Amino acid sequence: MATVPRGFFRNQYTLVHLKILLRAVLSGKITVRKMWNWMRCNLAYLLQRETSGAAPYMVSIELWNECNADCVFCRDAKGVIYDVNPGGVGTIEKGRMPMEMAKDIILQLKDYLLVAVLYTNGEPLMYKDLAEVIRFATDHRVPTIIASNGILLDEKRSQAILAAGLDLIKIQLSGFYQETYSVQIRKGNVEQLKQNIRDFIRLRNEGRYGTIVLIDYIYYNYNKHEFPLVKKFCEELGLMLSIRPGNPKHGLEDKEPPLSTEKLPLEISCDWLWKGMQVNYNGDVLQCCEAVVWSKPPVYEKFQTQKSRLIEVWNGPAATSTRNLMTTKGRGSMPMCAGCLRKGISFKW
Ligand code: SF4
Repeated sequence: MATVPRGFFRNQYTLVHLKILLRAVLSGKITVRKMWNWMRCNLAYLLQRETSGAAPYMVSIELWNECNADCVFCRDAKGVIYDVNPGGVGTIEKGRMPMEMAKDIILQLKDYLLVAVLYTNGEPLMYKDLAEVIRFATDHRVPTIIASNGILLDEKRSQAILAAGLDLIKIQLSGFYQETYSVQIRKGNVEQLKQNIRDFIRLRNEGRYGTIVLIDYIYYNYNKHEFPLVKKFCEELGLMLSIRPGNPKHGLEDKEPPLSTEKLPLEISCDWLWKGMQVNYNGDVLQCCEAVVWSKPPVYEKFQTQKSRLIEVWNGPAATSTRNLMTTKGRGSMPMCAGCLRKGISFKW
């Protein structure tokens, strides 16, 4: 059985959060109004109130759910995304969010957002207007983060997102040599990826952009022997490293332990409903990021650019009745939540 090393390398998310916060404070992206809203959202969650703060303090925007890596746990060899809804249609439709929609979402929530997460299930570097959306958020004092497989992180794209003011990028490097790297990640050259990371750091340092870089190691039996090499790589470049257990679904079930044997915390209320909002590429306003891989998810509203009012949706009838359900009957009352092990609104695990 694979076990994730405990202790220092469990993950460094606390340090990541502190770094993001510090950077946001220093760049004037934190206001009294945002902190007041953050307190209200947290208090509403603690008290399990039907309404939350004035707005979510985190929004997750799926710009495009296309990906160029086709990882085994996420989609099949033809890139078809697996549907995690056991009673669903079996696959997830793909699509791209118009840039004007992404900008409108940020504009409507800018006075409250502590962070805009500009990816959910797709590869954000495939979205050609990514730098422009980051720039728009930066201009409106909204911190931004993305996670990437790094395959497309060439100098041109790196320079564009650095100059646009990206606050954090998480890059997956789950193997040091190609043979190991390719077990889960069907496409991508790990030597090119490592060079992309080195070049990104050089450009960041030359331009003094200060973007935070976190290397993401998804830990399996098959790649655990290469973890020390990735750790050394990160130390040489001065990068933070996070480690999390891998998902063995869709091909590694007989070789790897299941993702978690933890008892489902059905009684534990979910933070997402009080703190974060998800908007899918097609404008579906959703209760959390899990919903983008759940076919036919419950939808708060279909967002229409310059028509929908997200602040009204946030404490509107669909959102409040979902919070009520969570409060009174727990996550076991909703099919999508019943099998979900997520706690908090941070990165998974
Ligand atoms: S319990 Fe899971 S599926 Fe339900 S709202 Fe929370 S994160 Fe989403």
